[in-house]
This record gives sequence, structure tokens and C-alpha cells, in this order.
Amino acid sequence: MFVDKKRRIGIWVVWSFLFPLLVSYAYIITPNEGEWHWGDVFIFCLLFIGAAMIPIVVNNTPLSMTQWVTLATFLDFGLFTELVLSQIAVFVVLFRLKLPKEQWYRYPLNSTMFLLVSVISGQLYYLFGGNHDVYTINNSSFLSLAALYMLVYFLSNHWLLNFIYPIIYKTKRPIVSEDFLWELLLLIGIFPIGLILYFLYNTLGIISAFLIGLPVMSMLFVLNTYYRSQQMNQYLKKAVEFGHRLTEQLQENEVLDVFIQNVIRIFPIDYIYIFQDNRENQLHLTRKYGRGMDTTIDIVQDQNGFSSVDGLTKQARLYKEKREWRRTLDGYVPNDAESVLSVPAMNNNELIGLIIIASTKKREYEKFHLLIIEMLSSYLAIALENARHYEKTKHQSERCHLTHLYNARAFTETLEKEFHRLNGKKIRSLSLLIIDIDHFKHVNDTYGHQSGNEILCQLADLLRTLVGKIGFLARYGGEEFVVLLPNVDKEKANLLGERIRKTIENRTFVLFDDLSEVRRKLTVRITVSIGVASAPKDTDDPMTLLRYADRALYVGAKRVGRNKVSHYVG
Ligand code: GH3
Ligand code: MG
Ligand code: MG
Repeated sequence: MFVDKKRRIGIWVVWSFLFPLLVSYAYIITPNEGEWHWGDVFIFCLLFIGAAMIPIVVNNTPLSMTQWVTLATFLDFGLFTELVLSQIAVFVVLFRLKLPKEQWYRYPLNSTMFLLVSVISGQLYYLFGGNHDVYTINNSSFLSLAALYMLVYFLSNHWLLNFIYPIIYKTKRPIVSEDFLWELLLLIGIFPIGLILYFLYNTLGIISAFLIGLPVMSMLFVLNTYYRSQQMNQYLKKAVEFGHRLTEQLQENEVLDVFIQNVIRIFPIDYIYIFQDNRENQLHLTRKYGRGMDTTIDIVQDQNGFSSVDGLTKQARLYKEKREWRRTLDGYVPNDAESVLSVPAMNNNELIGLIIIASTKKREYEKFHLLIIEMLSSYLAIALENARHYEKTKHQSERCHLTHLYNARAFTETLEKEFHRLNGKKIRSLSLLIIDIDHFKHVNDTYGHQSGNEILCQLADLLRTLVGKIGFLARYGGEEFVVLLPNVDKEKANLLGERIRKTIENRTFVLFDDLSEVRRKLTVRITVSIGVASAPKDTDDPMTLLRYADRALYVGAKRVGRNKVSHYVG
């Protein structure tokens, strides 16, 4: 969560005012216990830090289980010692997080919180008559005082958080949340441990720190490890699901969209860069999330295959902070990034891309994040390959192999679709031209089949430019072409037909005779006959439209001498 500069400075100011005040206040109200047990306090301090550093996670919220040490330290050594030790623990824990500069305010913030909590609960304990005499376990007023201390410690912590949260983060915290109840439950469970440590310390001395500390720490450690493996399992489950979804996508664009959307959902992320398109030994940035650089990554070919700057495209890498990637990735990753994962995407041992993921937080990613991204990157590679394959197959299935125009199947589909639009009043009219080459058999017989093919290709190109975007052009059969014209009425269709007919009549097709020994250069002229029909004027049925155009072609054009445009007359 972002905290603006004004607030950050405010926190430091409040802290520098409160810190000396509360520390000296705590010193004054703590009853003088005579001599300090430096060695013992030191061991308790270690317990404090240890417990604070192994949080257990409930409902995704990490909780530091230090209350048992707090209680024992307070009861044994008094408010001042407890306050100093908890402050040390706060600083050590935060220091280990290696916060970026903008989050340094969390030092004074957490410190102030714990100062207040310590003083409030200690003060209340003293007010109710508590002191640091050595109590025994059957002293019930002592037990209730200790419970009061613990409860006040817990409640004041929550109360202060609820108070401070809206001021600093501009969002409210719920007064009684699920987290609150969980924490309370854990507190009740851990309270007796604090008491036992207290009693045991009074009877056995510092050895009690080991007798209690060791099992409690191991338990915290086990819980913590359990949580991590749970977390890893969850990640894996999500990643596998998402991998499947990825491979279901049929288009390359969709594959990349789904990849980015889901990676953002699963991982804490500020930037994603996907480099692809391995051209001229460079990978090109094809997708990005978050702001940043449009660069290419140079791949230098070495004897082992590809490698780039510092082997970036050879193996997956995990960088915990900027210092580690500065030399390798400078210019590829924004300046405010800290944690970076860089993973090459391979398919059949061929480098097809590079994924870079970054966060502005230090130590955001761990080894298992890298493993999961590696797994996802192989899914990505497969999905991209699938999509490419699908697009290729689709292209092949709807195109004519010779001219690359749409084929009869694609035409029939489009015809149905356009009639749907016509019936739904999305278009006003739909016209159809059927173009048939005149005496094409003769062309084949004279110049050879190969030359015939050559003419078909040249004619296809010519038609492509003549029809342009106004119609759907397909090769319907051997030497027959069709043009479907949405929103073009019969007259306009006739005019277009006429223009096509004339253009072809005036064109000379150049080819090389493949029947003679020497491939002579030939110029060939052809003509076409064209039939026109239009919906809804002539019919409102797709197959009938096709039949009428065909009839117009044969009756009105072929039969009366060819090289003509003829439209259906009912
Ligand atoms: P018309 O349409 O004017 O009545 O005469 P035509 O000779 O064009 O018509 P017909 O239907 O008798 O013959 C069509 C010819 O088109 C037969 C075939 O040799 C030729 N043809 C069909 N498909 C191809 C092709 O893919 N390549 C080549 N080279 N010729 C083809
Ligand atoms: Mg013909
Ligand atoms: Mg024909």
C-alpha cells in the first residue's frame, strides 16, 4: 500500500517525539527490581527475535507469535525490559525484510505501535496492583492480572491498528474480522505457555528458556514450513489449471492475453515483458504489462546454441534485488524494479521467447516462484505452437491451394452467414457474381495444364484487386470464381461485373509454354462470362441465389456467345 511523503514524514516526526517520551516513562513506572540479569535478558531477547521471525500464517495473514515471550519477559523483568526487547525485535524483523526506501516509515510506525501497546498494558497491570514479586501458580489474583495484561496487550494492539490504519492507508479495518478472532484464539492457546515460561524461569532459572523455547520454536517452524508447502501446492494447482486453459486457446493473441491475465492473478507482479519473434538473432518485445521499455534483446550465437547477454536466454534466473540484476538486465527492466524472474521459453530445444517478471519489492520471489513460472513458460510455448498450428490448419482448410483464395467450403459458410445478417436486417441486400472463364479447356489443351494453372493464379490476383474489401471472393470450382457482395444491390453488382469482364478482356496474361521444348514466352488473352443474382430482390434463400446466378451465367451469357455479364430475370 502506498503512503505519501507527507504522511511518511509525519510518522517519523511523531515517532521521534514519542520514542524518548515513552521509553523514559516506561523506565520511571517500572518498579526497581534491583540488579539486572544481563545474561538472562539477552537469552529472552533471542527468544523474542526468534519467535518474531517465524510467523505462522492464518488465512494468508502472517502472525508473529511473540506474546508468550512478551508475557514472561514482562512478568519476570518488568515493563521497561519488555519494551526494550520488543523494540529490538521490531527492528530486527523489519531490517531482515530489506524494505525499499519508500517503506522505511514502517520502522517508526511499528516501533510507535509497540511502544504504545507495551506502555498501555504495563501501566494497566501496575494500576490494578500488579508487581514483579515471585508468584506461585495457585495465586488466582496474579493469574487474572496476567490474563488482563495479555488481553489488554492484544486489544490495544488492535484498537491502535484500527485507529492508525485509516489515517495512514486511507482505508478502514473491520473492527471484528476473521483475523481478529483467529488471533484471539491463538492468544488463548499461547497464554499458558507464557505463564509456564514465567514459573519455570522463577524456579529453574535461564534453562527454562531452552526447555520452553525449543519446543515452541520448533512448533512454529513446523507450522511455518507446513504453510509454505501448502502455499506451494496452491500455486501448483492454480498453475496447472491455468496451463490447461492456456493450451485451449486457439489464437496466438488469446494465448498471450490469458497468460498475462493469469500470471498477474497468481503472482505479486508489477511488470511483465514477453519477448518473442526470434528474428536476426534478436528477441522482440511483443507484450508487456506495466510501464516500460520497448527494447529488443540481442542473442549472441555461441557454439552451444543461443545465448544472450549473460546467458539470459539459456536458463531461468531469480534475482532478489536490483543489485543482483543491475549489470545483466539494465535497460530491459524499469529502474524501480527489485525482484526479477527471467525465464526463457523453449520448444523442441528452440528458443521461442523470453519472459521477464518483476516486482518493485525486494525478495518478492522465491525459488518455487521461479519453478512455477518455468512450468508455465513451457505451457506457453506449447500453447503458442498449438495456436500457430491451428491457425495454419484453419488457413489450409478454407483456402484453395493453388490461388490462396477462399475455397467453396469457406464460401458456403460465408453465404449462410451473410443471409443470416440479411434476415436480421443487418444488411439491406446481398448480391452474387459467378465468374466462369470462357473456353478454358481450350487454353489447357493449347498451352498445357501448367499454363492453365498459371492463368488461374494471375486471374485470382487480378480479381483480388478488383473486388478489394467490398466483397468476399472465392474460387468456387475449377475455373469458376464467386464474389459475394453484402449491401450491394443488383444494379451495382452488374456494374462491378461489367468492370471485371472488361478488365479481363483487355488484359494479356503472360506465361511460358510448358508443352514446347524451349519454354517460349507467351501472351494469352481470355474472356469470362458472369452471372448475377441478388437477394432479397430475386430470392431469400442462399442455395437459390447460387442457382439463379448460375442460370444467368449459362442462359444469359454462355449461350448467347460468352464474354458477357447477365443477371437473373425471374
Ligand atoms: P465454357 O466454360 O466456356 O463453356 O468452356 P470451358 O472449357 O471453360 O468449360 P468446361 O466446363 O468444359 O471445362 C472447364 C475446364 O477447366 C476443364 C478443365 O480442364 C479446366 N480446369 C478446371 N480446373 C482446372 C485447374 O485447376 N487447372 C487447370 N489448368 N485447368 C482446370
Ligand atoms: Mg468455363
Ligand atoms: Mg466451368
